[in-house]
Order: sequence, then structure tokens, then C-alpha cells
Amino acid sequence: MSGFVFSEKPITIESGEGPYLYDDNGNEYLDFGANYAVTPLGHSHPAVTDAIQSQAEALTYVQASYPNTVRTELYDRLAAVSPGDLENVWLCNSGTEANEAAMKFARAATGNSKIVATKRAFHGRTMGALAMTWKKKYKAPYEPLAGDIEFVSYGDAEELASVVDEETAAVFLEPVQGEGGIHPATVSYLESAREITEDVGAALVFDEIQTGVGRTGTLWACEQSGVVPDMLTTAKGIANGLPLGATLCADWIAENHGDHGSTFSGNPVVCAAANATLETIVSEDIPTHAGDIGSYLMESIEAAAEEHDLPVRDVRGNGLMIGVEVKRGANRVLRDLALNSGVLALPAGRTVVRFLPPLIIEEEHADEVGTALTEALS
Ligand SMILES: *Cc1c(COP(=O)(O)O)cnc(C)c1O
Repeated sequence: MSGFVFSEKPITIESGEGPYLYDDNGNEYLDFGANYAVTPLGHSHPAVTDAIQSQAEALTYVQASYPNTVRTELYDRLAAVSPGDLENVWLCNSGTEANEAAMKFARAATGNSKIVATKRAFHGRTMGALAMTWKKKYKAPYEPLAGDIEFVSYGDAEELASVVDEETAAVFLEPVQGEGGIHPATVSYLESAREITEDVGAALVFDEIQTGVGRTGTLWACEQSGVVPDMLTTAKGIANGLPLGATLCADWIAENHGDHGSTFSGNPVVCAAANATLETIVSEDIPTHAGDIGSYLMESIEAAAEEHDLPVRDVRGNGLMIGVEVKRGANRVLRDLALNSGVLALPAGRTVVRFLPPLIIEEEHADEVGTALTEALS
């Protein structure tokens, strides 16, 4: 039997270590995307595995209205590393739930319902977050979705200013659009979004579910702009593979958040994994490494494209969030990478090959992928 929602790949993955995955025949794959940004420290990182094991022996569940030391530690850690003063932490189980909570909190805190999102955005697949997601294919079979959402062109501050008004609850932005094709925002766009929302008392929400946890060279991508949102959502890599989402909120949001909840909020095993992940990422300064190695990889892909006259239209991204726009279908390139070189990557739209490797990769791994991509495109 197989699940019916995902179309499954023809390899069975059984184990992983660092940037490598292994199938049931012992074949090795270099994971530059199969982890979907979920394992910044690589697969089966020993510090995270130890934390999971010892917490599983102590306690696997208690509801979040009972304080628990590992959960409190995670609240404190996230508050300490949040941009600005987003010290109020809501914990949930996925990215889409973190965004759902942000939508609810913004509506409760402002008393408004209108939410502004961007074309090409991806914010998740539940009925609220899906309504803020752009792609019609993801939405059409499930309509009607949550209402009162308006879309603007990503990067156009004037259009944003013309749509955001006194009726607006929130503006949602990815600092680098991921799923939509790897499009980084400019600093001035994020600054404008901050001014425009502040002027009318709307919440600015940064969806850092893909950009966060060090991927772009700083712990949060928005740090590079100096812009502090009213809420920041994170998930994917925050517990190095265990299901965790978080919504980090400013005081004015937390003070008037309505009545929200979730059974598994702040599960101790998941919190223990997140504590170990954050501790390792911060103490080993993994974000700086991700920024350096990301620049190295991007430059080597650009150099190879020029030298070998590869069918590449654009190479863009930030840190280890890289998109290579090719002049042919991305899926064929991805297939060649996997079958001929054992390199796993993922698409972002029809023509973009997306690399989201674990942040602990070294130059040798980047070189291997550069060579594999050159072969696949030659
Ligand atoms: C993956 C992703 C989500 C959704 O996260 P899930 O955990 O799959 O619900 C939301 N926003 C962005 C930017 C993402 O990359």
C-alpha cells in the first residue's frame, strides 16, 4: 500500500546521516532538497537524537497549560533570539498552523478582517493559510476558503500602499519567496511594508518558515533588513525534523489574541529537539557558515553556467536557499540529477531547480552538486 496524497518517488529512503540519505539497497544520495529545509543540522544529528531519546524516557506529553521545563526553555530561547521584541511565543505543529494562528491573532488584535498577501506566495495548505497562497491549482478544488484576502505583486511598495488601509488586519510576506520560485525581497520593500502597516495599525507578518533558522546567513532572514515585524512564523527546520511550528508575537498582538489552542502545542519531545537544534545552530554559528557556503555554491553555479554555456536563465537566492532558473523543464533536470549523480533537489515552479541543503554542508558537497548540475544541463 502507499499513501494517496503524495505521488511517491521510486526510491525507498531508510536512513540518513549529515547531508546524506540512504535507500533500502544501501545507495547513497546527497540531499540538497529532499529534506525541504527541515534538517538544517543534517539527518540524524547526534545532539538532537540524544535530546529526543532522553526526553522520551522522561515524558512524552503534558498539555501546555501545565508548565514544563523543556517547553519553558524553548519559549525563553525563542524569545531571546527573536528579532526585536517578539517575545510572546505560540507553539504548534506545522508551518500552516503557525500562519493560521498569525491570521487569527492579527484579526483579534486589530478587530479587522482584511489580509493582504502576495502573488506567488506560499503560506500553507489549511483553509486560512491556503487562502493566502497564490497558486490556483492548490486552491480550486477546495473553495470556498477563508475570505477577505487581497493579493498584491511581490516587491511593489506602491501597490501595497494602495491596498493596505484602516480595515487591514495584516500583511503577510516571505522575506524570500520559496515555493514561488526563490525571489528575495529588497531591503527597501520590507522597510516600506513596515511603514505602510505601521501607519494604519495593521500587523506585519513575516513568514520565515522556509527562510528561518539560519538558512539565509542570519538566524532570521529579516535581520538582514533591520525590519522587525509584529509576528514572525517559523516551522520546517526549527526542530531538525520533528513537527514544530511557532508564531512569535509582539506584545500588542499577545495582549489581545482571542482564544486559541491546540492539543499538541509545546509537546515536550518536540521542544527538546528544538532546544538542541537552536543551541547547536547558535553556539556553532551555523548561519554564518550557511551564508558563506551559499555564496560559494551560487558563484560556482554561475561560473559553470558561463564556462559551459549552460541553458540557465538566472541563479538567485540568499544563503542556502538557491534557485536556478533553467531554459527547460525543471523536473527533467531533477530526474537527471537524482538518477545520474545521486543528488536530490526540488522544483520551485516549472522552470526553477531549488536547492535547500542542510546548513552543515561543506565546499566538497557544493562542488559535487555544481558538477552534477553541469552534467545534467550539458
Ligand atoms: C512549507 C511552508 C509553509 C507550510 O508549512 P507546513 O509545515 O507544510 O504546513 C508555509 N510557508 C512557507 C514559506 C513554507 O515554505
